[in-house]
Amino acid sequence: MLEDKNQERTSLAELGEFGLINHLTEHFKLYNSSTTKGIGDDAAVISASEKERLITTDLLIEGVHFDLSYMPLKHLGYKAVMVNLSDVYAMNGVAEQITVSIAVSNRFPLEALEELYAGIQLACDTYKVDLIGGDTTSSTKGMLLSITAIGTANKEEIVYRNGAKPTDLIVVSGDLGGAYLGLQVLEREKQVFQVNPESQPDLDAYTYLIERQLKPEARKDIVELLKELDVKPTAMIDISDGLSSEIMHICTQSKTGCKIYEDKLPLDPQVISTSEEFNMDSTMIALSGGEDYELLFTVPIADFEKIKSNPNLSIIGHVVEQNQGMNLVTRADQEIELKAQGWNTFKEGAQE
Ligand code: ADP
Ligand code: MG
Repeated sequence: MLEDKNQERTSLAELGEFGLINHLTEHFKLYNSSTTKGIGDDAAVISASEKERLITTDLLIEGVHFDLSYMPLKHLGYKAVMVNLSDVYAMNGVAEQITVSIAVSNRFPLEALEELYAGIQLACDTYKVDLIGGDTTSSTKGMLLSITAIGTANKEEIVYRNGAKPTDLIVVSGDLGGAYLGLQVLEREKQVFQVNPESQPDLDAYTYLIERQLKPEARKDIVELLKELDVKPTAMIDISDGLSSEIMHICTQSKTGCKIYEDKLPLDPQVISTSEEFNMDSTMIALSGGEDYELLFTVPIADFEKIKSNPNLSIIGHVVEQNQGMNLVTRADQEIELKAQGWNTFKEGAQE
């Protein structure tokens, strides 16, 4: 990466702003008929339609949201797009366009931005979204990256956070806690490397966790699966901050409570083994570890048959009346009130 001393370094000033944008974006394809005009004019043009339009944006700051000592720039570009697409899918929408704004200090050569845009392009090609614009400027220190995603959905298809009803089932896609543990492993390796730069990390036991942290996927497939199954969630959210705080958002906005069952939480075997290694409770990690970008949603109990045996979906609990509170039912059948933060010590160093 940037530490590679043999790598070529072309100063950004050599290209000029227009040359730079052109160089970085010339190989991007356009996939959506709604994109009338992409990069190259004063504003992009997207055609207005009968549908509703969904807009979401995220701002990522080096040193706060990402650490380039273990986050390759290509992965950063990919992940920054995923974070935004995930929000569009969490509304049950289809993502169609993104804009990308960057600020970089003179520490970054052209080759670094090429890497970043390679990741952005891979995300656009995989998820069929069009890069339609952005802005480029300099920063005095480090990198800032802001992505906006634009999507569409029919009015009646949109799923908000506030539609959950008592007796609804609570469902989560994929598995939980991997991205947080991946970050712990990478942080540990970084510290080892700082003490001994010759050390060769053996990360074989953590490949899934590291992939979850460095290359998350937004669950477009789940939105499509729900359509195929003819299931429309009553409420939905993506898991960026951890299951506990996301289910609390749904319950608070829906004016309900919930019961989540500890023994139903989907955990990958690497999450279980690595939690033990780090002396952490895997349930706490599933509840409070963020950045999994899975979808959490509620469905009417009448849809039970449609989803019960799907390997991508786990039913982890149900919605109850608000006065029953928001609780975790432990393996020992005790009820514990959910907390948005989990352990304080556990959250320390975690990213927002
Ligand atoms: P303006 O001066 O009107 O802001 P710019 O020179 O900044 O125009 O941008 C020219 C074109 O390139 C516009 O279409 C803009 O959206 C696009 N653009 C600028 N920066 C980026 C970027 N980092 N990524 C993608 N597109 C960009
Ligand atoms: Mg501009």
